[in-house]
Amino acid sequence: FETDSIRNFSIIAHIDHGKSTLADRLLELTGTISKETKNLQVLDKLPVERQRGITVKAQSASMFYNYKGKKYLLNLIDTPGHVDFNYEVSRSLAACQGTVLLVDSAQGIQAQTVANFYLAFSQNLTVIPVLNKIDLPGADIPKVENQINNTFEFEKDQILNISAKTGINIDQILPAIIERIPQPSGRRDGPFKALLFDSWYDTYVGVICLISIEGGSIKRGDKIISAHTGVSYDVMQVGIMSPEMKKFSGQVGYVVCNMKSISEAHVGDTFFHQNHPVKPFPGFRQPKPMVFAGLFPADSNEYSKLQDAINQLTLNDSSVTVFRETSAALGQGWRLGFLGTLHMDVFKQRLEEEYGIDVILSHPTVPYKCEKELIIKSPEDFPDRSKIKGDSTLFEPMVSATIITPKEYLGSILNLCSYHRGALSSNTFIDETRVMVSVKLPMSEIVTDFYDKMKSLSSGFASLDYEDAGYEESDLVKMEVLVNSKTVDALASVMHKSKVDLIGREYGGDVTRKMKLLNKQKEGKKRMKAIGQVEIPHEAFISLMTKS
Ligand code: GDP
Ligand code: MG
Repeated sequence: FETDSIRNFSIIAHIDHGKSTLADRLLELTGTISKETKNLQVLDKLPVERQRGITVKAQSASMFYNYKGKKYLLNLIDTPGHVDFNYEVSRSLAACQGTVLLVDSAQGIQAQTVANFYLAFSQNLTVIPVLNKIDLPGADIPKVENQINNTFEFEKDQILNISAKTGINIDQILPAIIERIPQPSGRRDGPFKALLFDSWYDTYVGVICLISIEGGSIKRGDKIISAHTGVSYDVMQVGIMSPEMKKFSGQVGYVVCNMKSISEAHVGDTFFHQNHPVKPFPGFRQPKPMVFAGLFPADSNEYSKLQDAINQLTLNDSSVTVFRETSAALGQGWRLGFLGTLHMDVFKQRLEEEYGIDVILSHPTVPYKCEKELIIKSPEDFPDRSKIKGDSTLFEPMVSATIITPKEYLGSILNLCSYHRGALSSNTFIDETRVMVSVKLPMSEIVTDFYDKMKSLSSGFASLDYEDAGYEESDLVKMEVLVNSKTVDALASVMHKSKVDLIGREYGGDVTRKMKLLNKQKEGKKRMKAIGQVEIPHEAFISLMTKS
């Protein structure tokens, strides 16, 4: 295939707006999968992804399509659909020249629609706006067209109207992709340069990297070098995903080389041929954990089983960081770092469902910093206040959040933001009924129940997306919980000064109530945790520890 008959594109959308359904339709239409696999959502492979309707790992698929007498190779590069994976989204987008921006015509523009649009727009991608679900009785095409026009400045005649479910106008998508999205710019005869945008571990073949080739070519037996680490690898297998691995030459595809572990495959890394060094793709960064939590087996006999499960899961997800942790109250465990709370929930769910281990995950904390250097990943790391000078030496991570809400909930949403120490930066109407709020919030306020509160305040209509906004100085304190005059390590937490009284009182009430329960529930004795001179039932202790 010459580059003028190749298109690399992705589909971006707010959750549930129909990305997976559209991907399936396109794969069917091009004969890449058969119609019998209807609604299989081939790109979502983990059970947890099907259940939660989210994409955790990006996948990709290549398809062939005849258009105006010419055969095209179309590479659909899937992107993870959640804010926790924003860096992965931006890397996947860097492998494309254009994207389909899918909007549910009954729901209209949501926070992730806006965040994804700007990610694509800032990378100079051609964006094709598409209204989906026009078959729904609640679809309001003129209204959503108007929102798209106000927010992204697309004209009505640029917007396609489809139903990914029933197939209405689905035949307009691929022609629009071919005509509007530019061909990739690289040249086949130049030096080899490729972007690594996803990877996973396969028990049979080992580490598989998905790459997008900007120039040149590789074949089995070549030696390629990682620009990030300088390590050289032997190319063992190359091919395309269609949707399974297939030996075929293309421009977006997989490469298997002799990597020992997934931790060598850095999303955003550049590969080049050993004899022809190239300038790496810009914007590479190491994903950094934004949420930490302690993990312990509910039954301490399952410690080594849990250790094996953690090893297995991190084999396929190198963005989880793992440290050992010992708690006086809970025994041996780990402190894990995740990209965000969803990433954390998914990990916990996989431990429980795929490995059948009952685990205790402590209340999550964010990485505070001391003196801009030391990362505080657990309350244990918190510096002794008497040993550091002044109040200005602690920092907390911030996020820039976008919230889209029907205007009648604006007041409550703004109150919620200010209660969570948010600083409003702007407030724009996207049409007569909906407002987009931009607000800077401490990450620690988001990891607890912000999202749930926002959803319930707005009867489910407001949506949220956020991105990393660096660190700011903060008045942080460590709160310790004393039970019978002894501190309990697992109950300590770091928080903003303004929260101490509030949370302290809640905990206090809880401890007293749980103590009463303890005295009544004599049969629970064997499962009690001895803390100081007092015994707390295991369940009560866990509920205190995981309380947000
Ligand atoms: P994703 O989260 O963006 O991948 O969304 P999905 O493709 O999983 O779709 C979410 C839900 O919307 C599923 O129940 C789909 O069946 C449904 N859906 C997707 N496209 C359409 C459509 O065009 N019309 C209708 N009525 N439902 C759709
Ligand atoms: Mg999906």
